[in-house]
Amino acid sequence: MSEEKSLNFLEEIIEADIAAGTHGGRVHTRFPPEPNGYLHIGHATSICLNFGLAKKYNGQCNLRFDDTNPVTEETEYVENIKNDIKWLGFTWDNELYASDYFEQLYNFAATLIGKGLAYVDDSTAEQIAATKGSTTAPGTDSPYRNRSIEENLQLFAEMRAGKYKDGEKTLRAKIDMAHPNLLLRDPLMYRIKHEHHHRTGNQWCIYPMYDFAHGQSDSIEKITHSICTLEFIHHRPLYNWFIEQLGIFPSHQYEFARRNLTYTVMSKRKLLQLVNEKHVTAWDDPRMPTISGMRRRGYPPEAIRQFCDTIGIAKRENIVDISMLEFCVRENLNKTANRFMAVLDPIKLIVTNYPEGQEEIFDVENNPEDPNGGTRKAPFSRTLWIEREDFMENPTKKFFRLGVGLKVRLKAAYIVQCEGFAKDDAGNVTEVHCTYLPESKSGNDTSGLTVKGTIHWVSAAHAKTAEVRMYDRLFRVEDPSSEDGDFKDYINPESMHVLPEVYIEPELANAREGDRIQFMRKGYFCVDKDSAPGKLIFNRTVTLKDAWAKEQKKG
Ligand code: ATP
Ligand code: MG
Repeated sequence: MSEEKSLNFLEEIIEADIAAGTHGGRVHTRFPPEPNGYLHIGHATSICLNFGLAKKYNGQCNLRFDDTNPVTEETEYVENIKNDIKWLGFTWDNELYASDYFEQLYNFAATLIGKGLAYVDDSTAEQIAATKGSTTAPGTDSPYRNRSIEENLQLFAEMRAGKYKDGEKTLRAKIDMAHPNLLLRDPLMYRIKHEHHHRTGNQWCIYPMYDFAHGQSDSIEKITHSICTLEFIHHRPLYNWFIEQLGIFPSHQYEFARRNLTYTVMSKRKLLQLVNEKHVTAWDDPRMPTISGMRRRGYPPEAIRQFCDTIGIAKRENIVDISMLEFCVRENLNKTANRFMAVLDPIKLIVTNYPEGQEEIFDVENNPEDPNGGTRKAPFSRTLWIEREDFMENPTKKFFRLGVGLKVRLKAAYIVQCEGFAKDDAGNVTEVHCTYLPESKSGNDTSGLTVKGTIHWVSAAHAKTAEVRMYDRLFRVEDPSSEDGDFKDYINPESMHVLPEVYIEPELANAREGDRIQFMRKGYFCVDKDSAPGKLIFNRTVTLKDAWAKEQKKG
């Protein structure tokens, strides 16, 4: 029996609209990224929400690039955004650009001028700011507020034609300089910017402001439910004002709370700083909260969708614990990632009674969680690599691994008993010496012994090598943006730790970029794009357990 999930507040609104037959019961959403950076996990919530609602209600979802600011926008970002949305598992119904509406937006503006509802202002940005008033005091009218319609139309056409320099004139809506909502005190509609645009080139030198582009674009596309984040709530009356005055399709704006995540920052502006100032290697650095960073780190798209679904949507701003995202990643990888043996911090184990030159090939189960996961071949021989931490010179009472006199099972192979060890001049253990019990072979164990510990290993003669990049939180504090000073002061200096040479099972040599696997007992890993033939590089996606939470408790 499946449990009915209760509706979130947007689903309630949509179902009520459908029931009332609003817009013929049609649901049409859009995801409107500004192509001024890469998408991050916050955007993923908005993507899952907009595409998810369209799907649930048999509607449509547009991908609309909100590209009205030529200074910060680039085609490279457009391509990456498309790629990320597809990778997340969503398909848009229409690929659209606000810049495609520039002509229509210009005509809308001229219509408002014609109705006496917009005017060209010669005031400087400083003068406009100084006459805005405050929450307690009304603003003052611009001296240019009462220009005639004819003069305004002519000046606006001249602005478009390039007659004026940046900042020399603006177009403002003529609403009310004493309006209690400051955003309605004659807001800017257009500004002059002699800048090259990534799509329209040098065709335009005036660009519409967000408030005069977004709602109109929604309306042109006949969007029924325009969902944005909470900081736009005070813009809604302006959104409605433009639509009403123009008498165009009545799209409606709804707000939900922006999603933030602990131990990271989410604004594109800040992420860009991390990239430009080389605190990370690129937008897709596996430590970044970007979709491309998470992909490279090995997060499966299903896990990200699961996370967005789990946290749902809220009406109030909050910060979600990153361990929830990691939980979703682990849960997914536990079911899907094949297990392999890799030794990250190696010491040698010599099976002293195993004949020199002999080898056996064991079948190892790929994934105990997946009955159809199959098996692979792992070669075994006299000299193996094991993890340094699996041996203790003076084992403590609860240490169920190797130490002189202790027995352990070598995964998928034999039970061995530790007989001794060797050290180098510096006193470091270099070799562990064991004997094996031939009758304890996995799958056919007649030894009658039970041992508490099982450890992984790689045959030294057969092992391949690889580089492993271990990642930790990018920041040392939960919410770097709310701390004193610069958020970059809180970067974790140990967010990446490289193991230049680890030993891996020979089967793993065939792994390809993007493959997601488990190194048994060590965590989930993913093949990085920096890998080259003969030189595999693995990113640690996530540990097997939430070690960080434990560390924090120990304090
Ligand atoms: P940023 O501040 O990170 O640059 P933005 O809001 O300027 O974000 P846009 O490209 O304009 O980025 O965002 C596209 C869509 O994604 C918008 O509808 C926006 O509300 C939504 N969005 C952006 N960040 C988040 C977030 N952290 N949580 C939920 N939705 C978000
Ligand atoms: Mg934005």
